This record gives sequence, structure tokens and C-alpha cells, in this order.
Amino acid sequence: MKETVKAYGAKSATANLEPMTIERRDLQATDVNIDILYCGVCHSDIHTVRNDWKGSTYPVIPGHEIIGRVTEVGTEVNNFKVGDLVGVGCMVDSCQTCNSCQHDLEQFCENGATFTYNSPDKHLGGQTYGGYTTSVVCDQEFVLRVPENIDPKGAAPLLCAGITTWSPLRHWKVKKGDKVGVIGLGGLGHLGVKFANALGAHVVMITTSPEKADDAERLGAHEVLISKNQDAMKAHANSFDFILNTIPVGHAMDPYLSLLKIDATMVLVGAIEPMKEFNGGSLVMGRKRVAGSLIGGIKETQEMLDFCGEHNIVSDIEMINMQDINDAFERVTKNDVKYRFVIDMASLK
Ligand code: NAP
Ligand code: ZN
Repeated sequence: MKETVKAYGAKSATANLEPMTIERRDLQATDVNIDILYCGVCHSDIHTVRNDWKGSTYPVIPGHEIIGRVTEVGTEVNNFKVGDLVGVGCMVDSCQTCNSCQHDLEQFCENGATFTYNSPDKHLGGQTYGGYTTSVVCDQEFVLRVPENIDPKGAAPLLCAGITTWSPLRHWKVKKGDKVGVIGLGGLGHLGVKFANALGAHVVMITTSPEKADDAERLGAHEVLISKNQDAMKAHANSFDFILNTIPVGHAMDPYLSLLKIDATMVLVGAIEPMKEFNGGSLVMGRKRVAGSLIGGIKETQEMLDFCGEHNIVSDIEMINMQDINDAFERVTKNDVKYRFVIDMASLK
């Protein structure tokens, strides 16, 4: 029997999120049924609801930072058992056979990964529905094991904000002693700071918000650079080995590129939209690079969660009830969150 469950979603780009009911598919042989305990609120949830990236299909039921407990497993599930603490991130399926999938890069599946929400649903038709619900059915290959020693509420944001910042730090081989800049102290940025610190880097928080300086240092930044202060920016010119850029909207890149050393890279993870024009000279003078990165593969996500278990890293969160989601969206948009909202799904049950 398909299960009908409570959810919160938006019926149009301008609508508030409201209560609705949705269906979850029958459990397939390799599926895991998860009772959702907590779900983080990612800025991507807002971009998708507001149709900022176009292509949203309504209703949109967001949520891709899911933590829960296994309530049921299919006949061929061998990795999980009832009661396990698990997570689901931004993807729920991929072809598993293409070159990307074979190399643990399901996010770049050549046949199109199935994202947790707003992706074509292979089982039920229509589009997938995310974690702003009481339960989710997911193939075991896309279910992550969450270390039992970390706080499950703070672990929720690891499933997207965590892997999105971990993956580029690892791919670009950030190491002890590197000078690493993290731009934007939000959900992604605050985890970027924690990870870069844990990897032994000299971490500089690059922010537009001077009032966040104390928090940045508490989270693990060794220095804080206020990006609007041109003298301070000049003092850091040509000095960074790596910069992780989490700014959620198009922006001028030249000021940030000026911070990179020769051959160093700035990785964009936030702005999935046109950037302001930038000067070719900002790259040419110093053989600098701009790159991008999308979440991370399933294997890498598990490695990140295990690292968090070993180093006791979780997100700094503010818990909300499901009913407060519209206010939370408003506050994220106004840059007023420390540093991730997490929905207590008990409020919907
Ligand atoms: P967030 O919590 O809103 O944080 C973004 C931070 O960026 C803000 O706290 C602010 O930090 C800074 N900022 C905001 N507007 C800015 C502007 N106009 N100019 C300069 N800085 C600005 O958002 P998030 O959840 O971390 O997500 C960040 C972006 O990453 C979003 O666009 C999201 O959709 C995207 N994302 C991408 C991936 C991926 O796989 N690539 C995955 C998840 C999310 P300060 O106050 O410190 O300046
Ligand atoms: Zn996200």
C-alpha cells in the first residue's frame, strides 16, 4: 500500500508553504522506509520554492537534509536494519552504471541523478518530494549511516551543507597550513570553517557582516576579513591557497580573485546563476582558477559523516516547528540565521 503522509509545500513561486498530504511509494526490495526526525532548511530549498533557478514544478516539497530512523526494510536490504539512525541528502537515485556513477560521482550521473525534491519521480510519476514530511522511502544505495555519537539535530545539515563544503576542500586537497578563505558565514560557510579548521588549515572567514566576527572565531576561523573593507582586502591580496565561495547570488568576483595566490583556486558552490562580468586579468595575472562544485557523491558523503563522528562536528542550529517554516525562509533570505534552521518533525506528526 502506498502510504499517505503529512507534508509542507508550496503551490507556486509566490505562495507560502502550507500543509498538504503526499504519497510515498510501496517499499521495493532494496528500499528503506525512514521516519523523519529532523530536516535542515537549506537556501536551495528557498531558491527552488521561489523558482529562482527556473524549472520548479509545483507543488514543491523541499528538504534534503534529512535525519531519521529506519522503520522498515525491503527484502534485499543488507546495509540497514530497523532502528538505525540514517540520513538522506540531496539525491535519492542515479543510474549506477554510467562513468560518473562508477566513479562515485552520482551527483554528475550522465543519465541524470534523481534529486530528493523537484526531480522526475521514476516510481510514482510527477516529481520527487523532499524531507518536509514525516517519512521517506529511499533506495539503500542513497541512505547514509549517521554516527550515533553526534547530535542528530545538528547532523541534519551535514547531508547537504556539510558535503557541499567538505567535497571541494578534499578535491582541492586542502592540507595543514594552507591559507583557506571561506566566503559567506551561513549554513554552508559555517561548516566550511569547521572542516577547514579540522583539516589543519589557517582559516580566514571572509564576510560582509562584521557582527559575525566573534562567531566566526568561535567556529574555528583564525582571522576574519570584512570584504567591504578595501584596505583589509588589500592586506590579504595574493595570499590564499584556496577559497570556498558560498555567496548565494551572482556577484562581482574580481575582489575575491585578487585574494588568490599564483595557481590558487576559488570554488563556487553558491551562485548557480549569471555572475557579474569579471576581468580576465584577474585570472591571467597569476594563473588563477575559478571552479565549481556540486554537493558530493554518496561514498564521499559517508566519509564526511564518519569524519564528523570522529571529530564531533555538527552544525550550529536553531530548531523550529514545521509551522514556522515561512518565517524561517524569510529570515534566511534576510541573512538572519545562526547558522542553520532545522525542523523538528515531531511538530508535524
Ligand atoms: P545562507 O545560509 O543564506 O548563507 C549564505 C551567506 O552568504 C550569508 O550568510 C552571507 O554571509 C553571504 N551572503 C548572502 N548574500 C550575499 C551577497 N549578496 N554578497 C555577499 N555575501 C552574501 O545560504 P546557504 O544555505 O549556506 O547556501 C549558500 C548557497 O549555496 C545557496 O545559493 C544555495 O542554494 C547553494 N548551495 C549549493 C550547493 C551545491 O552543491 N553547490 C549545495 C547547497 C547549497 P555573510 O553575512 O558572512 O556575508
Ligand atoms: Zn542544500
